[in-house]
Order: sequence, then C-alpha cells, then structure tokens
Amino acid sequence: MWYDELAGKSWFSLWSGYMLCGGDCPGIRRHEGPCPACGAAPADFSSTRTTSDGRTTLAYIVAGAEGRYEDYIYLQMLQREWERPVVEFQALAHSSNVERPSAQAALVLLFWGYFETRIERLHRSAMRKLPQRVLEDQLKRHSGIGSRLFDLYRIFFGTTYFDDLRDQGFAAVADLLSDIHKRRNEFSHGKPQAINDATVKALVENLKAEHEAWIAVYNNRVRP
Ligand SMILES: [Zn+2]
Repeated sequence: MWYDELAGKSWFSLWSGYMLCGGDCPGIRRHEGPCPACGAAPADFSSTRTTSDGRTTLAYIVAGAEGRYEDYIYLQMLQREWERPVVEFQALAHSSNVERPSAQAALVLLFWGYFETRIERLHRSAMRKLPQRVLEDQLKRHSGIGSRLFDLYRIFFGTTYFDDLRDQGFAAVADLLSDIHKRRNEFSHGKPQAINDATVKALVENLKAEHEAWIAVYNNRVRP
C-alpha cells in the first residue's frame, strides 16, 4: 500500500515534491520537468553562491511544497483515524456487517470534507479572472458539493468533475468518488450502513491516486 512506503512519515507527505509554479500561474508542479499548467521550464536549482567563509549555499528559494494548512490538518486527521485502534459500535455488536456502518466511517466523512475544500480551490483558481463578486455569487448559488461537481462545473467548464477525471485518465478515481458521494449522501439521509468497511478500505487504498488525479485536473483547469 502507498502508505507503507512512507516509512513512518506523515500522510501530509503526499504533498512533498510539489511546489506552486508562481507568477501568473497557479499550477502545482514537481521540481523536475515542465509545469503541467503553463509549460514553463523545469525549476532551476543549480544557482548557488559561495559565502565569504567558503560555504556553498543555495541562492534559489523554493516556493515550498504546495499544500494549505487545512490540507495538513485533514491529512493528519485521516491518518489518525486510520491508525487508531478500531472500536466497534457497542449497540451494533450483534448486527450483521450488512446492517452496520463501518466503525471507521468517520474517515470517509472527513475525507469528503477535505475533498470539498479542494473542489472549491479548483473553482476559485480556475475562475480567478472573473470579477470577485461574480465568482462569490456563483459559489454562493452553488454551495452544495453536488452542485459544484455537476451544475457549476458545467457552467464553468462544460463538463462534470467526474467526466473531467475520466478525460484525464483517472476513470477508477472517478468511479470511486462517485460511489463515495452516493454513500455519503445515503449516510446522512438515514442509511449510515451505506459507509461500510469496503468503502473505507477502497478510499484509503486510493487516497494517493485521488490526490494525484485532483492535481492533474486542477492543473488542466487553471492554465494561465
Ligand atoms: Zn505554471
């Protein structure tokens, strides 16, 4: 699993190796290779200088791994939910697996909160040239996540977020998110058992793929 390869590092390291492109480009790029959003050349880390006492220091300041404070908090919380001992719901101890929600269902709800912040970020960055009041008005009219994935997404980009994922080569992530969206709605409308152990497992296994898929779609939409 992807997190076994982190060797004890935090799940926030999903963001390590990435930086903001900068200037007019909100693209998220790796240190090596051109920016996927604007095509700018690889970042140049070769410029060094020698100080008076003979030490060599980097004169180039890196914009820093991309990832907001909320990304850090959410990823830490997801990791904590996954790693802490599982405590079954006491009252449901004798129900069958089909009838009870996963004891780790909170992880899926948390993830969905994190996902919603990234969808808002995508809309805001891609539409940054709209007058601010128009953008705010659109986001207010389409405040629900379903609306932002479908209706507002169609208004801004002529497609849906899930179809955009498929177009970028992430069909499996699109299917997973679409399923989680449905189950999360069922969960909050009287059917908590919709989020079962299989849902939790599928989400955690694919968290890294989902992370990379979001970055790819984001970069494609925020091109200067
Ligand atoms: Zn760029």
